[in-house]
Amino acid sequence: MTTSFYDFDVAVIGAGHAGCEAALAAARLGAKTVLLTMNCDTVGQMSCNPAIGGVAKGQIVREIDALGGEMGRVIDATGLQFRMLNLSKGPAMHSPRAQADKKAYQFEMKRRIEDQKELTLRQESVEELLVEEIAEPGPECEVPRRKEPSAASPIANPPPCQQSTATKRITGVRVRGGAVYRCRAVVITTGTFLQAIMHTGEAKTAGGRAGDGTTGTMSDSLRQLGFELQRFKTGTPCRLNGRTIDFKACHEQPGDSEASPFSFLTDKITQTQLPCWLTETSEQVHQLIRANLHRSPMYSGQIQSTGPRYCPSIEDKVVRFADKPSHHIFLEPEGRNTWEYYCNGISTSLPRDVQDQMIRSIRGLERAEIMRYGYAVEYDFAPPTQLRLTLETKRVDGLYFAGQINGTTGYEEAAGQGLMAGSNAAIKLAAKEPFIIDRSQAYLGVLIDDLVTKGVDEPYRMFTSRSEYRLLLRQDNADRRLTALGRRIGLVEPARWNRFVRHEAEIALATERIHSVRHEGATLEEWLRRPEIEWQDLESMSGDLATLDVQTRAKQQVQIETKYAGYIRRQAADIERQAKIQAVRIPSTFDFLAVPQLRSEAKEKLSKVRPADLGQAGRISGITPADLSIVLLYLKEPKRVTHP
Ligand code: FAD
Repeated sequence: MTTSFYDFDVAVIGAGHAGCEAALAAARLGAKTVLLTMNCDTVGQMSCNPAIGGVAKGQIVREIDALGGEMGRVIDATGLQFRMLNLSKGPAMHSPRAQADKKAYQFEMKRRIEDQKELTLRQESVEELLVEEIAEPGPECEVPRRKEPSAASPIANPPPCQQSTATKRITGVRVRGGAVYRCRAVVITTGTFLQAIMHTGEAKTAGGRAGDGTTGTMSDSLRQLGFELQRFKTGTPCRLNGRTIDFKACHEQPGDSEASPFSFLTDKITQTQLPCWLTETSEQVHQLIRANLHRSPMYSGQIQSTGPRYCPSIEDKVVRFADKPSHHIFLEPEGRNTWEYYCNGISTSLPRDVQDQMIRSIRGLERAEIMRYGYAVEYDFAPPTQLRLTLETKRVDGLYFAGQINGTTGYEEAAGQGLMAGSNAAIKLAAKEPFIIDRSQAYLGVLIDDLVTKGVDEPYRMFTSRSEYRLLLRQDNADRRLTALGRRIGLVEPARWNRFVRHEAEIALATERIHSVRHEGATLEEWLRRPEIEWQDLESMSGDLATLDVQTRAKQQVQIETKYAGYIRRQAADIERQAKIQAVRIPSTFDFLAVPQLRSEAKEKLSKVRPADLGQAGRISGITPADLSIVLLYLKEPKRVTHP
């Protein structure tokens, strides 16, 4: 038998959310790239909920976009409903979210991949990684941190020199059937597919997602190279035929009347929006679940691995929040050309007969038909402490991991890692400086730093509380934080750059004007600092301002920066203080359980580990900077522990 050989610079394995961004980034940076995926019909497929964005995740999509990634543009072009979450809170909490048309999203992403120069899409199942020995690995070294503040972030971008200690170097991959793709870098983005088993009640099937297969030999290949693998699990709810739902018995959930786009390149969302619908579980449903808990794989012992605690199944909710009489269920359309509805809030792996009964006991769903049953999936992931900040593995030179394989969960977290890994793969081949984003510059920096320094003990999703700099890391200023960085590495195209430069010029003009124009003795900037004054009020105070040639987005930016200037300055000072805080000792007698403001998860973990200082506390997986601030406060004022 003759073996087919193909030659590329970079091979990306898997065309999920991480793989699509990785392949596009590598190709855009000039690497001849191949995207190898088990099925070309599932490029960019959403395995679970039909939605992009949400709290902290929406900020990540804006960051991906600011760096020249694709996710924001694709959801803008195909989304069904757009909402800005948390508008009643401060701007750091504003988070865009959109309902997705799953099929339209996939086709749009696939087309953009097909259009991309230097990028080839191939349907292949990768079975083995090919490596060669490196004669003499170099020593690990760190260069001093480089100070390079940006407009929106006063903190530097620290590119540690990551000279390799690897003893092996990647040379290619072998696919099912024996063909070999030779390349100098590989990015693995295989998601939930490694040794995956799906569970619905007592029934078990091999597969990483309903309707797809699994990949066993990749796990073997990784283990042979010395990588550690562990198991996580996640779950998904059933989908219903919308023609059998009584929508009149549910509450309508419309989108925003003025839809906010994700991409800095999208002027306006023009498509009509579809509503979602709200119903809820009842005591009757909870009783049914309790009576059948022994048949749920998680409670029968059939599933041993850890799942995302903050995204509990309906079984978990009923057990953990036993006194809650009902839980919300959002009925979300899966597309414009289908009647299928996703039941957000009742992820389950209960047997089919229990799922049928459960659905029929819910208001509005009495006659509903299930089209796809809910299930849980267990899969291998590679603990991410085996990676560098570039997402390259420490063990094999030129091999990168991104997405769910790193123990994360979520499309956005995966896409962000994909962009970073794909960029770094291409950058390394071009012998340029690694592309590393600091925690103070982006949620992407927080994500990767958390993964590679703390590791994960449950599927990792992003929360705003994971960032100690969240007042700086807002969705509205992602371009100001990152577009210059994206341009420096070559990901930002001229159209995006020109738009960004225009935006900056408008901000500069508007800022200058509010500082120089006075009204009743005070500058307009002083007026704007007052809580009750908005930009429109300034326009009525000064005709000059009303005719200023500045877009709404620039006005909003100046307004936020002015109103929150004090907080932003304080956050910058906090960053300086952080280093000192790490050294604060925690007495061995300190009672974490007596700190009422601490989240129960934090109390549990801190009491278990009993860290000696705040630095050690901060390295415990799941402990957030906000938790540390609370502990610090109580350390300073011990009386408040006993007399809260
Ligand atoms: P995936 O999107 O899983 O993509 C992996 C890709 O790799 C696929 O295209 C696959 O075909 C390909 N592939 C795998 N092995 C090979 C191989 N050997 N050769 C070639 N190609 C290969 N996230 C949430 O945020 N909330 C949730 O509630 C949620 N629930 C989930 C429920 C289920 C049942 C599943 C399966 C996932 C769920 N997720 C959820 C996770 C979410 O789907 C993932 O976080 C996200 O899709 C990960 O993106 P990824 O690119 O890493 O991997």
